[in-house]
Amino acid sequence: MIEAGTAPEQILSLLGITEPEDLDIEAIAYACGATILSQPLTGCEANIIGYGDKAIITVNSNSIPTRQRFSSGHELGHWVKDRGQSAFGCLDSQINSEWTASNPETRANRFASDLLLPAGMFVPRAKGRPITLETVGDLAAVFRMSQTATAIRLVNHGSFPAMLIYYAQGQRKWFLRSSKDIPSSLFPADRPESHSVAASMLTNKSADSKSGDVRADRWFDRDRAWKYYIRESCFRTGPDSILVLLWWEDEQQLIDIEEEEERRASRRSDHREEY
Ligand SMILES: [Zn+2]
Repeated sequence: MIEAGTAPEQILSLLGITEPEDLDIEAIAYACGATILSQPLTGCEANIIGYGDKAIITVNSNSIPTRQRFSSGHELGHWVKDRGQSAFGCLDSQINSEWTASNPETRANRFASDLLLPAGMFVPRAKGRPITLETVGDLAAVFRMSQTATAIRLVNHGSFPAMLIYYAQGQRKWFLRSSKDIPSSLFPADRPESHSVAASMLTNKSADSKSGDVRADRWFDRDRAWKYYIRESCFRTGPDSILVLLWWEDEQQLIDIEEEEERRASRRSDHREEY
């Protein structure tokens, strides 16, 4: 049996899994000593009860299959990472929205991503693909995962500079920058600006997704941001929450910001030498 503390990538390699269609969460959990049940749950999205080296994971049968799948991976993450702690009952908000803090819930989310959207399989399939809703949809289908989990992966492991921002009740809750070429000084708006695609989606509650090219100053309060355009893709995650993907198809803005920051840094160091 696979031992507690084993990393997701290692679990897959021990089980000889190399293709997305073989990512069978029930079989993987079973190899870790956990049985997955699907039953109606109220008050939480999924839970796990462990005893000795066996565990029962229950996921909410009223949820859509991709969510049940991710929740199973999340609970398995608690089992593999946090074994020895008492039972976990996890809320939908913890499974779907906690990505950037550091606690057992984010660790379990990361475990589920690494297990069910493993970088070794994801990166070659995402390579060179535009950061758009279409790509998210295609990859979500290949891995049988939610758009949210897939979009996070695409921003972190895709080929191009992008950001992913989560808004709920009109406020920015968290955001991610791709590690590629996005200056750390670049922060997206706290609230979607009125001319953004996101704002129009928050007004039109019936739209599930929307995309378009927008001026960068709709998103970033920077000098001359109006000169550049970015691709904005939004999809709904709840009645009052959306995810926004921003993609610099044309990277000129990022290049210009970097050059400007370098110029400023060198001016500062010249200035210091005078004293
Ligand atoms: Zn949890």
